[in-house]
Parts: sequence; C-alpha cells; structure tokens
Amino acid sequence: MQHKIQEAGARIIENSPVARIARRVLTSPNVAMVFGRQIHLSGVKKEDFLKDRYWVEHELCHVQQYKDHGLFGFLGKYIIESCRSGYYNNKFEAEAREVGRRNAGLAANHPGRNKNTAPGNGV
Ligand SMILES: [Zn+2]
Repeated sequence: MQHKIQEAGARIIENSPVARIARRVLTSPNVAMVFGRQIHLSGVKKEDFLKDRYWVEHELCHVQQYKDHGLFGFLGKYIIESCRSGYYNNKFEAEAREVGRRNAGLAANHPGRNKNTAPGNGV
C-alpha cells in the first residue's frame, strides 16, 4: 500500500502527538487522522497501518477530500458537517467508508474495520 501513499503525495507520521490527543479523546487504542496530505498515526505502527487496506483507502479518501476542498476549506466543512450530523453520519466519513470498502474490495454493507479486533478510528 506504500505505493498508493506515494501516488497520492501523502506522508505518514508515526507517534503523532496530535493523533495521540485524539486517541485519548476518542478513548480509542489506535487512531489515524489526516491533515492535508499528512496521515498522523498513534497507537499503530506504519507497517501495520499499511497492511490494513480498508484503513489506508479510507484515509487516502480524506487526503483527496483535502485536495478537493483545500486545507481550511475541508476542515471548516468537516467541522460543520460533524456538528450537524455527528461523526458517523458526516458525509465526508460516509464517503471515506464507501471508497475504503470499494477500493479494498469489500462488500457494500461491510463495516470496514473489524471493531472487535481493530477498534481504531479514522478522522
Ligand atoms: Zn474517516
């Protein structure tokens, strides 16, 4: 999956302090969150993140959303959408789940990551 990261012009940042704060707030053992083209990880090693095709595709969709809307444009829209609809029903999250499932070859009704074995979060 590293080639897809490179193709997208994205960069992975391990042990990210920002992602660590998100991890605490979300009380999640592992978190990936995207700012622009940077994918910040906490609680998961880069090599393990890259093995989870759905997760990588999900976060790469957020990288594309930043490209489409601009750094502050996307952040603003994402926050407004989260306030209106919450995290799960946020249209940017719904799109990232859909793209993640499609690009990882999972069924349309597949939940994506298995919450029991990999209870991570993507932002
Ligand atoms: Zn997400």
